[in-house]
Amino acid sequence: MIVTEQTPDQVHDVVIIGSGPAGYTAAVYMARANLNPIILTGSVTAGGELMNTTEVENFPGFPEGIMGPDLMMNMEQQARRFGADIRHEDATELLLDQPIKQITTGAGDVLHSRAVVLATGSAYRELGVPGEKALSGHGVSWCATCDGFFFREQNIAVVGGGDSAMEEALFLTKFASKVTVLHRRGELRASQIMADRAKANEKIEFIWNTEVAEVQGEGKVSRLLLRDTTTGEPSSLDVTGVFVAIGHDPRTELFKDQITLTEEGTAWVEGRTSRTSLPGVFAAGDVLDPTYRQAITAAGSGCVAALDVEHWLADTLNSEAAKVPTPPTNTAPVPS
Ligand code: NAP
Repeated sequence: MIVTEQTPDQVHDVVIIGSGPAGYTAAVYMARANLNPIILTGSVTAGGELMNTTEVENFPGFPEGIMGPDLMMNMEQQARRFGADIRHEDATELLLDQPIKQITTGAGDVLHSRAVVLATGSAYRELGVPGEKALSGHGVSWCATCDGFFFREQNIAVVGGGDSAMEEALFLTKFASKVTVLHRRGELRASQIMADRAKANEKIEFIWNTEVAEVQGEGKVSRLLLRDTTTGEPSSLDVTGVFVAIGHDPRTELFKDQITLTEEGTAWVEGRTSRTSLPGVFAAGDVLDPTYRQAITAAGSGCVAALDVEHWLADTLNSEAAKVPTPPTNTAPVPS
């Protein structure tokens, strides 16, 4: 590694921010390429969203399925096996628009790196209705696997019509006496297999063309005020819990002012590469993907980022090496 006078003492080749399938896959590839990646996994939720999932049935290589947290533990172990430096810390500040990027961690350390991979994933979307925030953790939840247990023999609601909502609803039938799915349209967005499973479950009921207008309750959820999305007609539903499963937004807070974003709010990348609008800054996984957002597509995207980083570093180091002045050779004539 070439360290010039202007650069800090220790410059890493690459720091990966985020530890879902994208971050860990990038780490596996880069560690195997001897790039000594550092991966900041997050201090609380290492492993990303799959840590909140139950069985993953569609990740190739696991014919019987695998639990989401087990899959992520496997990925972490695989990255570790090849020497990735895995740190259970947050990145709290990034300076990306400079040749040597600066990454401040939650512990107050400042890392310097030639390349950065942004693999920060996406965050649960909120309804944005009165009562939602105030009753969060008191009946309003975004994670059935985390909180479902608390709703034994209760009437609860799930909001959303996608795969996440179906998955949450199905999981919650293990505990709740009844699960009502509230969807703002008349048909589901979820895949056929998930929709069929949910519709076949006796404990699940659907209310179509309905949105939540307010979450009510004294200290804990007791009722939802609803609105018909076609007629505007108000109604209400007595429940003790509501699980919000209406999709995700890319997590770009840390760097949204530094790199270009798309209209959907995801990180913009050049064509099918992982190259963002800044040299040496790469993106992978849900943070750049408004469409597919699968564990396997995130993993593939992490692989793309790793290969892009590898090529970019090789080019950068070669051009830096070319700039280092060679000592002058003494060509002056020897005095006679
Ligand atoms: P999604 O597919 O984007 O679905 C979000 C759902 O929430 C949609 O039905 C949407 O309604 C509804 N919605 C959005 N904003 C809303 C609001 N403000 N109020 C009420 N409803 C709102 O998100 P997802 O279900 O989280 O899935 C994301 C991706 O992960 C998908 O590609 C999915 O296939 C994948 N996934 C797969 C699995 C699995 O295979 N086991 C499990 C989970 C997720 P509209 O339909 O009207 O837009």
